Amino acid sequence: MQIILATSNRGKVKEIQALFEEDEILPFSEFLGPMAIEENGDTFAQNALIKAGAVFDALGRDDVVVVSDDSGITVAALNNEPGIYSARYAGEGASDRENLEKLVRRLKEKGLSEAPAYYTAAIAIVAPGAEYVMHGWMHGKVIDTPRGEGGFGYDPIFIPEGFDKTLGELEPEVKKRLSHRSKALRLAKPIIDMLRNRE
Ligand code: IMP
Repeated sequence: MQIILATSNRGKVKEIQALFEEDEILPFSEFLGPMAIEENGDTFAQNALIKAGAVFDALGRDDVVVVSDDSGITVAALNNEPGIYSARYAGEGASDRENLEKLVRRLKEKGLSEAPAYYTAAIAIVAPGAEYVMHGWMHGKVIDTPRGEGGFGYDPIFIPEGFDKTLGELEPEVKKRLSHRSKALRLAKPIIDMLRNRE
């Protein structure tokens, strides 16, 4: 069984590979050309399953486990924006930087220099005859001034609970321990192992 990731987001691929050190995890781009997958679900879980299912179907193989991640950041003070729209907050095809800048702009419009926020990750697993979804969350706050170069996406404005630095400034080890994605993947690991080893 091969484990194939249904994402081409480099930040996610790097974080997921770092968590599964002893396993070979391959991005789907090694097997398939670019795919336009319409993420038209209403929840992170639905979108994660749509992605993993689309890659599984396109591969057409019965010896693979496909793993996907759908994730984003939610700010209650901004009517729960951007939530499932995190990747396209500043418009279809927007860059991470443009999305972050829109979030900063929205905070400033509301007269906020910071606001409580949390990340959600839904990890979906699709294998022959099997579908699973696991969630993980990381709570903290967003600030109106990006700091640090680490992580990706909204990390330069996100300060995890119990810290005074952003994920852009903190060591990658901290994110590896605390993140929404790590928590969901720790739940996914025994399921992936079971699917990989089944007869
Ligand atoms: P997806 O690839 O459709 O799941 O979109 C994920 C969006 O949420 C992207 O805009 C990411 O930048 C953002 N995001 C998800 N996880 C993280 C994270 O760990 N750090 C920073 N941004 C994240």
